[in-house]
Amino acid sequence: MDIKNLLRKNIANLQPYSCARDEFKGEASVYLDANENPYNAPYNRYPDPLQWKVKEAISEIKHVPTVNIFLGNGSDEPIDLLYRAFCEPRIDNVVAIEPTYGMYKVCANINDIEYRKVLLNNNFDFSAEEMLQVADDNTKLMWLCSPNNPTGNSMNQHEILKLVQNFKGIVVLDEAYIDFSSQPSFAKRIHEFDNLVILQTFSKAWGSAAIRLGMAFASVEIVQALNKIKYPYNINILTQKQALKALQEKEQVSNWVKILTSERSWLIEELKKLDLICHIYPTDANFVLVKVDDANSVYQYLVNKSIVVRNRNTVSLCLGCIRITVGTREENEVLIENLKGY
Ligand SMILES: *Cc1c(COP(=O)(O)O)cnc(C)c1O
Repeated sequence: MDIKNLLRKNIANLQPYSCARDEFKGEASVYLDANENPYNAPYNRYPDPLQWKVKEAISEIKHVPTVNIFLGNGSDEPIDLLYRAFCEPRIDNVVAIEPTYGMYKVCANINDIEYRKVLLNNNFDFSAEEMLQVADDNTKLMWLCSPNNPTGNSMNQHEILKLVQNFKGIVVLDEAYIDFSSQPSFAKRIHEFDNLVILQTFSKAWGSAAIRLGMAFASVEIVQALNKIKYPYNINILTQKQALKALQEKEQVSNWVKILTSERSWLIEELKKLDLICHIYPTDANFVLVKVDDANSVYQYLVNKSIVVRNRNTVSLCLGCIRITVGTREENEVLIENLKGY
């Protein structure tokens, strides 16, 4: 597949901004090229625009070459940039599973791109065939999320493959919750498919939502397109430093994941005992979607007890549902004790 032909014409022809740190790479003893202040080291210098050190550390852990990694200000940035790179406003469209993460639709609206939804089936899974049927010549992106937010389940691997193999545009697979899942990541398989983009994030298993760091794994052509249109210094030095620290302490992350998946089982067992819970949906993430009699009332009851969950009552296929994030044992106990008093 030729990614160049999928790009918007203005992006394909774009001469990107060239910053001082793009032109000179390597070590020098005197830097007089970027109009920086020589005082206040190390914050006086512009950071590495392509974050190579962070990418090297990610590359070792994820087994994805650095040239296939794009880093953004949260996953939000690659989500937005994918629209800006591939979708012509008011002409092109995208297809997404429904329900799913809200940012795909918000970014479509911001960029004035038609957003086509394909409802998940009764098992909250999707059919590649249905997605392809909804697409036309102007469909540039397809959005998948596995494990999916807010449903919590993983999508069928064969259907994901079928979609990537048969769609003539870009398939974005958001794996924000992959570390909590029993399913393997598709990140290592990007070499098989030029049109596959995998999104991951430091915001969930990595415990670093505050530093705003999202990862996209994709073919060199796609990564280069995103690099071309991003803000030159999109990842600040504080974030790069903190990310390197987190990456050096990766055992911490596996430990958190172990604790949280075990807490997830505990929480589910305790929820099962409660009369107000009508259904607990299967989850591969660090949250669980549950159906209750009256989601608005349960939500408000918990807020009054100073406990906040996510009311998903108005989301497609989620009538009566609330989404509960797995917390510490203490937090989960507070939730369960309060639900007993509902
Ligand atoms: C939480 C979440 C993210 C994370 O977004 P960031 O901008 O990286 O914090 C991405 N995708 C999904 C589906 C999520 O639920």
